[in-house]
Amino acid sequence: MSNPHHLLLDAYVMVSDKYGRQLRDLRISVTDRCNFRCRYCMPREKFGSDHAFMPKRAFLSFDEIEKVVKSCKELGLQKVRITGGEPLLRPNLPDLVKKLSKLDLDIALTTNASLLRKYAKELSEAGLNRVTVSLDALDQDIHSKMTDSNTSVDTILDGINAAIEFGLTPVKVNCVVQKGVNESEVKKLVDHFRNTEVIVRFIEYMDVGRTNGWMLGQVIPSFDIINYLQKYFDLNPLNSESSSDVAKRWAHSDGSGEIGVISSVSSPFCGDCVRARLSANGYLHTCLFASGGHDLRAIIHNSEDIQTLTEAIRAIWTRRDDRYSELRSSDNSALPRIEMSYIGG
Ligand code: SAM
Ligand code: SF4
Ligand code: SF4
Repeated sequence: MSNPHHLLLDAYVMVSDKYGRQLRDLRISVTDRCNFRCRYCMPREKFGSDHAFMPKRAFLSFDEIEKVVKSCKELGLQKVRITGGEPLLRPNLPDLVKKLSKLDLDIALTTNASLLRKYAKELSEAGLNRVTVSLDALDQDIHSKMTDSNTSVDTILDGINAAIEFGLTPVKVNCVVQKGVNESEVKKLVDHFRNTEVIVRFIEYMDVGRTNGWMLGQVIPSFDIINYLQKYFDLNPLNSESSSDVAKRWAHSDGSGEIGVISSVSSPFCGDCVRARLSANGYLHTCLFASGGHDLRAIIHNSEDIQTLTEAIRAIWTRRDDRYSELRSSDNSALPRIEMSYIGG
């Protein structure tokens, strides 16, 4: 039987937006810099040497990030994901993990893994629970073209092995599939990571930001990916662990692991979106496609306790009515948008 006092407490603590969605998950961008120039995220011609990145002095300190996380925890937060840009470029990142790991939350990191071998042990000791690695191709030429970098696929695979060695599992590998670019890699990735502690997830190429020249024709819908993979593997659908899981999970019938697909374009999941994003310089974004964020800097810098910040975030979340992907149309596709590398993927 439920305890009525507990229910009262929950009603006080939780915050719901206009569609009844709670604030459960915070993505924290710790830098807008990256050592890759993935064509779909930071194309070099737009993010070249003359690009105005945030001044580093504008980055929130780790104490300030901790303050925001504590405030969100007051409102029901359960998960944080550290991201960027490339989060492992932020100096002393394990120190942030150490602070956040004391708050009894699930802590994950999304990385391109170029520096993961170097930091996996320290991150694990600091209390990181899991990592997600972005890897779009095993073929070196395709990988180099997509990331516009010199990092070898072997370095990424070694980073993934380091994450496994230090218990940052299950490791998830995210592959953005683009028509005409890396379809050839889909089956190879599934083959490669069968019988390992790695779950590969195929993500539909999204119209984030304004610089990647996105076109609907470049999106391969998840159901095409599954239909294609079913020709080679016997995959059975699995139930989601929670309604806010963005990936639909499929298991190999012989027990050799699972894969996932994320259908952000063909089957949007705004109805269950419990996610907020914090930019490296202290803006809170309530949707990946938001044209602007809420400037929390003054409150973060000036308030002594977390109460004022908690109330500010509560007010922002209560007014939230975002559901961009469900409304994706010519009406909203022309609005200004924040780049993925700024807001955190
Ligand atoms: N640099 C880290 C990395 O790549 O893992 C973290 C930040 S990155 C912006 C986070 C995720 O966003 C990556 O998995 C990347 O593949 C994904 N992403 C970036 N642009 C995308 C797009 N246009 N469509 C779908 N996913 C995208
Ligand atoms: Fe960098 Fe990640 Fe964007 Fe690629 S997807 S450019 S690795 S931030
Ligand atoms: Fe959430 Fe916005 Fe994405 Fe919808 S479009 S799932 S509201 S981030």
